[in-house]
Amino acid sequence: MRPQHIAVFTDILRADPQTLAHELHSILTATEHEFSSDDARDAYADVIRALGRFQHASAFPRAFEAVAGETFRPLPQIVRCSVCQGDDVVRDATARWDAERGEWSLAGLLDDHTCETCGANGSTVVTHEASAPHADIRVRIAPLADHPDAGRTGTVLRPNHVRGGLYLRLDRRASEAVERVALADLDQIEIHVPTTLGRSATV
Ligand SMILES: [Zn+2]
Repeated sequence: MRPQHIAVFTDILRADPQTLAHELHSILTATEHEFSSDDARDAYADVIRALGRFQHASAFPRAFEAVAGETFRPLPQIVRCSVCQGDDVVRDATARWDAERGEWSLAGLLDDHTCETCGANGSTVVTHEASAPHADIRVRIAPLADHPDAGRTGTVLRPNHVRGGLYLRLDRRASEAVERVALADLDQIEIHVPTTLGRSATV
């Protein structure tokens, strides 16, 4: 590589997480035709995303949240009975008296689960799965997801009943003539966290 290329590369390597987050956000949302194609834009975004993750670990997605001005978190999980698929499941636990608060508080979780619907009982009767958000809920494809539209925001359209996951209507970029629809798996989707008290919740 020529010296000037090395210098640019060194600048990017030394950039703090905020700078890289700004760069990634501007790549993903830039309205001017700075890139020759969306493929070129995505390829550059992949480089910045990988660098941010490599250099700054979890500080990078946090910085990206702050820059993007919206906070997203992984989908809430639900537990299901693996026998009847019902979601009315309880789990054995121990409680300890909390003298300060004057109430019992959870001290520990035990392995046994019981399904209140079919009565199945044991340590292996539950499965965890992501709870799919409803239509029109604001979501994001996780910035670090292995997905061509990682980092893009949009709203839920409808579930894909054949292979699972959700169709999302992505926020339109100026370069896109029509709204783009993407299919993403539940574990790639993050849900918007409404901000209260003027400060984003950290996740
Ligand atoms: Zn059951």
